[in-house]
Amino acid sequence: MYPNQFISFRFIISVLILMVLTASQVFAAPPSVTAARLGGDDNKTRFVLEVNGSPAFRTFSLANPNRIVIDLDEVTWDIGPGGATGRGLINNYRYGLYTPGTSRIVLDLKNPVRIATSFVIKGDGGKADRLVFDFERITQTAFNASLSRPAAARSSVISTSRTPAIRAPSSKKVIVIDPGHGGHDPGNLGGVRINGISEKNVTLSASRNIKRILEASGRYRVILTRDRDVFLRLRDRSLVAHNNNADFFISIHADAFRLPSVRGATIYTLTEKASDREAELLAARENKADVIAGVDMGDESDIVQNILIDLVKQETMNLSNRYAQELSNELSKAVTVRKRSLRSANFAVLKGIDVPSVLLEMGYLTNPTDAKLLMQKETQDKIGRAILNALDQYFEENYAYN
Ligand SMILES: [Zn+2]
Repeated sequence: MYPNQFISFRFIISVLILMVLTASQVFAAPPSVTAARLGGDDNKTRFVLEVNGSPAFRTFSLANPNRIVIDLDEVTWDIGPGGATGRGLINNYRYGLYTPGTSRIVLDLKNPVRIATSFVIKGDGGKADRLVFDFERITQTAFNASLSRPAAARSSVISTSRTPAIRAPSSKKVIVIDPGHGGHDPGNLGGVRINGISEKNVTLSASRNIKRILEASGRYRVILTRDRDVFLRLRDRSLVAHNNNADFFISIHADAFRLPSVRGATIYTLTEKASDREAELLAARENKADVIAGVDMGDESDIVQNILIDLVKQETMNLSNRYAQELSNELSKAVTVRKRSLRSANFAVLKGIDVPSVLLEMGYLTNPTDAKLLMQKETQDKIGRAILNALDQYFEENYAYN
């Protein structure tokens, strides 16, 4: 490539990035909270948020001091900055952006409470929705019991390195599904010649379907790292799992190979050293996503993070391998898998997190049969159900305390 061409190529890429950023600012206006109020007394207190839009939310309790935390999909606050005084069982509350994508409300409790109910009242006629939380006074013993049980299946190292967000044991497991590539990173173009699809489209379509199937079970809350055709850094993908205190992270991809006859799914886990040459080459390709986007990889906080990751790695890897085994069993019952369906390599997207994770290559876009099947809902349903069954078995084994 001549220098001139290189410059113009970079220029085009910059313009594309700018367009993506501008588009996301224009179209992704988050819901806004327009009012917050408290009612009730020292036995029962109701907290109401008026929201334009319908952000997903989850709640959990924290002790020392007693608090209730409500996490919402990112919202803007049209009720003034900061905090407000309480009433009834609530001393006061604070709110703000917790991490990109998540807004948080912390209620400081006067007395220990449980959330008796929480529900949404849809506002009709253009009125805002109301998120309603009813708190009931309980004993400190009962409050302490409502905190997440000691992480029996996780080492203490893991629990200290995670954010101190503790979910009530009855709450849903949080699964982060990561549709590989996106935006100006199309992923592999192996299928373009066959039926005009690029990897980024297959991964998004399949991931949305996986989310639907997992959530329909009622046992999982699924967060997609992206729900549209947008670029995300590999590190930001894994951060979604970390910041949401996810229970599992699954990165979804579709492979390409020079031999069109090769087909079938492969499940990858993270290791320093690849299980084989093919896995090593695949990881190198997948890890290029950030390089393609011209992302600056230098980040000082990585040093601190890497120390933590070294501590949690072994336990996290063991859990990842257990799930990979379950998924391999389930997938082989449902779709074509490669002969050696479990492999490992040094994947950047699996590296930066203290959350058990796998990377699923659903099949080969360079294989005409796979390319066709992967875009069909029936196949995507089979993959979704295999992921669901494997998660059920995994959590039954590792967290049998609900
Ligand atoms: Zn990929």
